[in-house]
Amino acid sequence: MLSMAAVAAQTTFKEPPVTNEAWTKPFPGFRVVGNVYYVGTDDLASYLITTDQGHMLINTGVGSSVPMIRASVESLGFRFGDIKLLLATHGHWDHVGGMAAIKRLTGARMLMHEADVPVLEDGGNSDFRFFPKGRGTVYEPVKVDRRLKDGDTVRLGATELTAHHHPGHTRGATSFTFTVRDGGRDYRVGIINMNGINEGVLLLKSPGYPRIVEEYAQTFARQKQIALDVFLSSHAGQFGLHDKYKAGAPYDPNRFVDPKGFRAAVERAEKNYLDQLQKERQGQPSR
Ligand SMILES: [Zn+2]
Repeated sequence: MLSMAAVAAQTTFKEPPVTNEAWTKPFPGFRVVGNVYYVGTDDLASYLITTDQGHMLINTGVGSSVPMIRASVESLGFRFGDIKLLLATHGHWDHVGGMAAIKRLTGARMLMHEADVPVLEDGGNSDFRFFPKGRGTVYEPVKVDRRLKDGDTVRLGATELTAHHHPGHTRGATSFTFTVRDGGRDYRVGIINMNGINEGVLLLKSPGYPRIVEEYAQTFARQKQIALDVFLSSHAGQFGLHDKYKAGAPYDPNRFVDPKGFRAAVERAEKNYLDQLQKERQGQPSR
């Protein structure tokens, strides 16, 4: 395997400067529950799901965080090269910026909901927010090897994830649910893409995504149907990582059990959506 520096040298891609410090601030890797580990940064969540057939990695943060993710994986006693499957909750650069590099480093396959395949493969240029002009490439494009649809399952070893299409934030935003056994108990784990609205996005006037207003509403309704124990998400702040994690505390599989927090987070996002929708209908500026 090539050194990180050699791999970095294989690409000429330069990502935009990161202005949010929490995106790239290191955070210790730790075990969440069973075979699920947090290997992300202070704010951008990445999850390693280990199996005896290799590992899955969900989300990468920005491109420059790849060495940090690798260090986290190795600090937990796993081999970075054993990552076999790459998945993501949506195709924005703060979650998939490192996919191309990690794919090169590990030879893993990239899986993505079919509606976010175009953005992954053009590095974010076809992001609906910049239609029709295009955004320009903001992360290194990555070729998708398997296109997921709602309800598809992804299996590796004894772990089987179900992909839930939860569009709105992007066309192909996806949540993953699966069951983890730990200490004789089953935990229903949800890595949920919270349905926030990026600044400047209009629900009633997005020519690049005409069905956005309906799709957001459908996603809230569907997320309320999900029964989970362990609540995880794309950003640390969305599932309360910094409140729930205790540095140096012994492993506790119940630490991230929070069905009520999940429900409340969905309701908060829905309220923001309804508030914005009302303002747009009244013709006020959205923010
Ligand atoms: Zn996003």
